[in-house]
Amino acid sequence: MKRMGVLALQGAVREHVQMLEQLDCEVVLVKQIADLNQLDGLILPGGESTTMRKLLDRYQLLEPIRTLAQQGLPMFGTCAGLILLAKELVDYEPHLAVMDVTVARNSYGRQVDSFEVQLDIPVIGQSIPAVFIRAPHITSVGENVNILAEHDGKIVLAQDGHFLGCSFHPELTADTRILEYFVTSIV
Ligand code: GLN
Repeated sequence: MKRMGVLALQGAVREHVQMLEQLDCEVVLVKQIADLNQLDGLILPGGESTTMRKLLDRYQLLEPIRTLAQQGLPMFGTCAGLILLAKELVDYEPHLAVMDVTVARNSYGRQVDSFEVQLDIPVIGQSIPAVFIRAPHITSVGENVNILAEHDGKIVLAQDGHFLGCSFHPELTADTRILEYFVTSIV
């Protein structure tokens, strides 16, 4: 059984936990350094990246998570979690700065702060529902990064070795395929 951590400082934590349990994982809520022991993978959920960064600093989790990322621990960042992983952010200082992508925050304008689309993702499957909430997008990727999905001409899902990042919230639907791809193919 895989032992998966979910960063549990803020955001869509419970939904990831439920989906990981459906996928038969043991789940650890990561709130302090000791919770990072012996994980097979870590999920950085969506929420609000500025708030998460403040909490990561307060609980002294930023450096330990960055070290694990550099040592090869598989990590999946969804929405704000993708913002945390990105090496570069448009107009902001990066946070963990480990995944070789540049990310712009709040890419979809005020009128459409939230919407759902169906994505065809060749390596994962067809018609996968994706919920975008004040979503970021990937503006450019490094040479070793695979672009897995685009929506409206914008990159919304990419993989850089053991890092997976998406603009949207796969955990807010009933479709487990993207999380399953992470757990079975990357972790
Ligand atoms: N707009 C948020 C941010 O910048 C991310 C939104 C989300 O995670 N749903 O952190």
